[in-house]
Amino acid sequence: MIFSWFRQRRRRKILAQPFPPEWVACIDKNVAHYHYLSAEEQARLLDEIQVFVAEKNWEGCGGLVLTDEMKVTVAAQACLMTLGLEGEPFRHLLSVLIYPAGYAVPEERWHQGWSVKGESARLGESWYRGPVILSWAEIEDDSKHPGYGNNLIWHEFAHQLDMLDRATNGTPPLATRQERRRWHEVMTSEFQQLRRDAAHGRATLLDTYGAENEAEFFAVATECFFDVPVDLKEQHPRLYEILSSYFRQDPAARILAHEGS
Ligand SMILES: [Zn+2]
Repeated sequence: MIFSWFRQRRRRKILAQPFPPEWVACIDKNVAHYHYLSAEEQARLLDEIQVFVAEKNWEGCGGLVLTDEMKVTVAAQACLMTLGLEGEPFRHLLSVLIYPAGYAVPEERWHQGWSVKGESARLGESWYRGPVILSWAEIEDDSKHPGYGNNLIWHEFAHQLDMLDRATNGTPPLATRQERRRWHEVMTSEFQQLRRDAAHGRATLLDTYGAENEAEFFAVATECFFDVPVDLKEQHPRLYEILSSYFRQDPAARILAHEGS
């Protein structure tokens, strides 16, 4: 309770600061979906971004000097995901680490009884009760070219949502048994379809990396849900509907309303 009181007081102080206009310019430039939000949603998102930027521990890695643009871009996309969700899904996430580009981590594999030491190339990672790690070059590329269904930030933060119940299995915490049953039914069928499409080399809207396992499938589907919602709704209506009911957002409707107006 005391912690919550301190947190509320700290947040009131953060939100008492005016939102920097140059931050709005970063969001305008790097977060395409921001333009489709209603004025009320935009105002709520800006508040969330201000708190997220202030409360997380930000670290530049590999010699990267962090800028406000980097923090605001990550915060804006992460907070857009949770705009309709109850509570504070990212409250346990303490740190965001950003590398200038892709990075390598040491890796040990076992091959025919021998330990083989090598390196594994990464664009991003998401750890349970640990940091989210991102490549800025990849984020910039996604920001410059929205509409291809790829977005590193949504991918890694989807893993954070998935992990909220400790299990990284492609199913975030859901409120009712009925929701869990429906989620399992739709996600399993869509995941199997992607696996079949990937095995046959068929072109897919969803990145075939999602065929790796259920956790990657949820992360890849989340990328499409926010980046190409109209296409996802058209090509995978059941998947769209289940994600829309989970995120409590309808990004496709926002885009269509905007285009129709
Ligand atoms: Zn992943």
